[in-house]
Amino acid sequence: MQLSAKNRKENIDYLAQITFDLLIIGGGITGAGIALDAASRGLKVLLLEKQDFAAGTSSRSTKLIHGGLRYLKQGEFGLVREVGLERAIVHRNAPHLVLPEKMIIPLIKGGNFGKWATSFGLWVYDKLANVKDQDQRQMLTKEETLKQEPLLRQELVIGSGYYAEYRTDDARMTIEIIKKAAEYEAICLNYFKVKKFIYQQSKAVGVSAQDLLSGKSVDFRAKAIINACGPWVDELRAKDNSLQGKRLHITKGIHLVVPIEKFPVKQSVYFDVPDGRMIFAIPRHGSTYIGTTDTDYQGNKESPSISRQDVRYLLESVNHLFPSIKLQEADVISSWAGLRPLIHEEGKSASELSRKDEIFVSESGLISIAGGKLTGYRKMAQRTVDLAIERHFDKEDFPACFTESIKLTKEPFVDFEEVKASIKSWGAKIKNPLLATRMINTYGKAFSLIVKDAETLFSEKSDIAIHLAAYKYSAENEMCLNLTDFFYQKTGMMYFQPQEVAALYKEMKDAITKYGLINEEQLNIKPELALKAIVSFGS
Ligand code: FAD
Repeated sequence: MQLSAKNRKENIDYLAQITFDLLIIGGGITGAGIALDAASRGLKVLLLEKQDFAAGTSSRSTKLIHGGLRYLKQGEFGLVREVGLERAIVHRNAPHLVLPEKMIIPLIKGGNFGKWATSFGLWVYDKLANVKDQDQRQMLTKEETLKQEPLLRQELVIGSGYYAEYRTDDARMTIEIIKKAAEYEAICLNYFKVKKFIYQQSKAVGVSAQDLLSGKSVDFRAKAIINACGPWVDELRAKDNSLQGKRLHITKGIHLVVPIEKFPVKQSVYFDVPDGRMIFAIPRHGSTYIGTTDTDYQGNKESPSISRQDVRYLLESVNHLFPSIKLQEADVISSWAGLRPLIHEEGKSASELSRKDEIFVSESGLISIAGGKLTGYRKMAQRTVDLAIERHFDKEDFPACFTESIKLTKEPFVDFEEVKASIKSWGAKIKNPLLATRMINTYGKAFSLIVKDAETLFSEKSDIAIHLAAYKYSAENEMCLNLTDFFYQKTGMMYFQPQEVAALYKEMKDAITKYGLINEEQLNIKPELALKAIVSFGS
């Protein structure tokens, strides 16, 4: 079934008559990765997501594909090696979306790391991840560091490490994986909430779910069921009466976005803050984002709030090391908060908890997976599907995992060089290099289809026509159901170009209605309210 908003409704009755091999609950990166792994091995897959795909934690991370340098300090060598190696694989499979990003880690008087420890740590980091010679870490002197990043507080800096990571758009990664799973015939439905499990002789054999668009309840059946609900994993385990033993420990992390002119870092910086933690400042398409925090969380999981204290913490941390910029709350143009679904460990604080994933299997056969990182999604999926096959099927009937060699888009770029050339050529064609960069990073080669539609449907190549055609593409190929989801998950514009959203929204809404592109069921809050919410903080 094509991932189209149009045929979502028609197919549901038919799907209720099928017994799937695997039913996945949760359409974040974890569920998406499992869907692709399983469908590519030939399992008949159904994935249900109660919001838009990636609307949970998988659109609210720091958006880095990284090995997790700080986990070295915690002695988690296995984790660092696994995710470190994964970076190159996801870059190779989606070079328009997982972009090389050099990081600078300043060494600070009285800071977390000394010169030798940092040099050795970064060397180990590169070795564990088999980083190519030309990308391996360099240690910079104080002068070199200040040349590289002149905003740093001169009297504190004593040098730096310069090393290689990758950055991405987490929600786009999730939707590209879901689209690829759909190419392998996985059925993926958003706005479908699992309400309860269906049992036969005490084994979970299906779920009763509610279509949040029509309100209708539908029963779906499957031979195996996986709970990939991120921060909601324990809620589903409770529905299965299997919430015993290990539990989740949810921690919150926030990010703030400011215009690049307010915090003009020349490149990404990973730096010490006075309380001993580390935070990132990352430039991106005309803005800089800063994050993150790590605090215990018990509140609402759909829209975790940001307190003034969270905001103050990040702004003070930045102003401490970058004294000339004097960031204030009024400079913040948007923000987001995400929840880490970590595994509780007695006596450990939020930032000490392991980021490793764990799988739980209940007596009913429900497989739940939690923890982990965006970066490690592919290996997490492999482990989960291996286990599901082992427990529910004849192993001989299915091949081993081969997602390492699956390119994430229909028409993939060969490599990053081709991505750069394409951005240059499109920038000239549409006379807007920044929009071309954003569009290629978002849609890859599908951008050519978007431009074609902009010309044929809206008879022009103007920016608004391109955004309208992009909406049409997302509605027809990514099950985008409304403008809010378009601006948040499908493009990330709500976070990084909120002023543009404010300017575009009315005109786009009218045009989308006129051209019949909109689904009349507008579930989410309206963009004008969302625009207020991203700069409103609690006490
Ligand atoms: P989610 O994305 O939350 O997906 C679970 C889904 O289940 C949700 O979409 C939810 O709506 C759905 N669901 C829940 N209940 C139901 C139901 N009853 N029926 C149907 N669907 C349901 N990792 C990195 O690799 N790099 C980073 O830079 C990074 N930074 C991070 C920064 C922060 C602040 C946070 C919080 C995390 C960060 N991570 C990072 C970790 C990474 O983002 C998460 O590990 C990952 O996104 C979790 O994905 P998930 O699919 O397990 O959960």
